[in-house]
Amino acid sequence: MSKKISSELPMALQTIMNAAEQKISSAGFRLTTGRAALLKVLITSNKPLKIADLYLAANKITKIDRVSAYRIISAFKEIGLVHSVGDGGFVFCTHFQEKEDHHLYLVCEDCDNIEEINLPEKFKMTIYQQIKDFSNFKTHGSIQITGSCQSCKG
Ligand SMILES: [Zn+2]
Ligand SMILES: [Zn+2]
Repeated sequence: MSKKISSELPMALQTIMNAAEQKISSAGFRLTTGRAALLKVLITSNKPLKIADLYLAANKITKIDRVSAYRIISAFKEIGLVHSVGDGGFVFCTHFQEKEDHHLYLVCEDCDNIEEINLPEKFKMTIYQQIKDFSNFKTHGSIQITGSCQSCKG
């Protein structure tokens, strides 16, 4: 099931888009049409998208080459607008406006739907600390939990 990207975004998405654009410019990047297109694709998708998918979808909005798409996504990741999940997928971070490093995702194994949930930072820190104490594995980035989403659990 592919999501159609319209030129007009619903109000809530437009607000997110504006905030994300703000973040991009305060990170010192110019908001090119390519960046804006990729941003829109990411914001309107509730599934992780691979570079190839992102590139194809963005090209329906504006002409952009694959190398630029890759660079833009890397920059987005660098400034905390997207997370990489699974094997080569990227999702928009719905909590990009918050100052926290720990992000928790629920990944539906049936429909690939992905949802970032906002549990208290203290709780997430506990998970990271426990993992570190237990295995000396330094965690950063996101925690992903797989299962079945609301609409798939049947
Ligand atoms: Zn996040
Ligand atoms: Zn599902």
